[in-house]
Amino acid sequence: MENVMIVGTGCAGLTAAIYTARANLSPLVLEGRMPGGQLTTTTAVENFPGFPEGIDGPDLIMRMHQQAEKFGARFRYGVVEECEPGSPHRVKVDGEWIETRSLIIASGASPRYTGIEGESALIGHGLTSCATCDGAFYRNVPVCVVGGGDSACEEATFLTRFASEVYLIHRRDTLRASKIMADRALANPKIKPVWNSVISAFLTDEAGEVRGVRLEDTKTGAGSELEVKCVFVAIGHEPNTAAFRGILETDGNGYLVQKTGTETNIPGVFAAGDVADHVYRQAITAAGQGCSAAIDAERWLAAKE
Ligand code: NAP
Repeated sequence: MENVMIVGTGCAGLTAAIYTARANLSPLVLEGRMPGGQLTTTTAVENFPGFPEGIDGPDLIMRMHQQAEKFGARFRYGVVEECEPGSPHRVKVDGEWIETRSLIIASGASPRYTGIEGESALIGHGLTSCATCDGAFYRNVPVCVVGGGDSACEEATFLTRFASEVYLIHRRDTLRASKIMADRALANPKIKPVWNSVISAFLTDEAGEVRGVRLEDTKTGAGSELEVKCVFVAIGHEPNTAAFRGILETDGNGYLVQKTGTETNIPGVFAAGDVADHVYRQAITAAGQGCSAAIDAERWLAAKE
């Protein structure tokens, strides 16, 4: 029987692990499909307090991981398949049921894709959601980024290290990104914004690799084509709540609902980070929620005793 089980090893899960481990609760921490979460696919994190020179996302995550291990957190790989709340809660991980008194869900969010026909087959063949992972494969060739948020601007700026041109395709004519990220992207001579445009089709060569995109003007409906070797999709994220749907309360977009503090509608089950937060979605706010969830779980366990 576990005291605390933590699902997810992004900023929220690892911070919850540090706090619950330090409270001698010996948490079991589950590393899912993407250990380390979204920070592992970013470059320099410039806004995490305490790092005035910035810190690489993977480095920040590695340090949190080490910190949690130092205090006695136990890590295992696995994906939650089912969850049965109760006393204790039961969580099925890769076919094995684990019993735990309290549960912190910090399973984060995954990249959203456009849903355009043929898209999923092109992932890894000139279509990706991770510039940090795949950018270096596209040297001295044109690429495009879809989206107008911070992620799109960050990815476009990063890609200028490799690509000859980076087209930034956005469905409106103003970016959603924060001013500093937008200004930096738009000032880069290699980044060419393509305003009021959406991709209507992916164009492929004989080998099935992306060779371009067909665009549609969102104002006039006019069509055009753009030659690019890779499409980087950066249009936001979906919360990873599939295993908890129908059991834990979610909002209209699938995010877990926190009722009191970080507690969900099930007593002893807490949610932290991007799986529940569709408003702030920052590394530091996820870490803050991980801390809150750990303290909530600790107090809940103490009250039970
Ligand atoms: P986001 O802010 O939700 O932006 C998504 C963008 O994609 C928007 O511009 C949206 O267009 C566009 N979009 C959505 N669905 C689309 C579709 N089907 N087709 C075409 N375009 C579509 O997501 P994000 O950029 O991933 O950022 C998420 C959060 O992480 C934000 O809070 C952001 O501040 C944070 N973040 C921070 C940093 C940093 O500070 N270093 C870096 C990355 C992300 P509209 O604008 O028209 O809605």
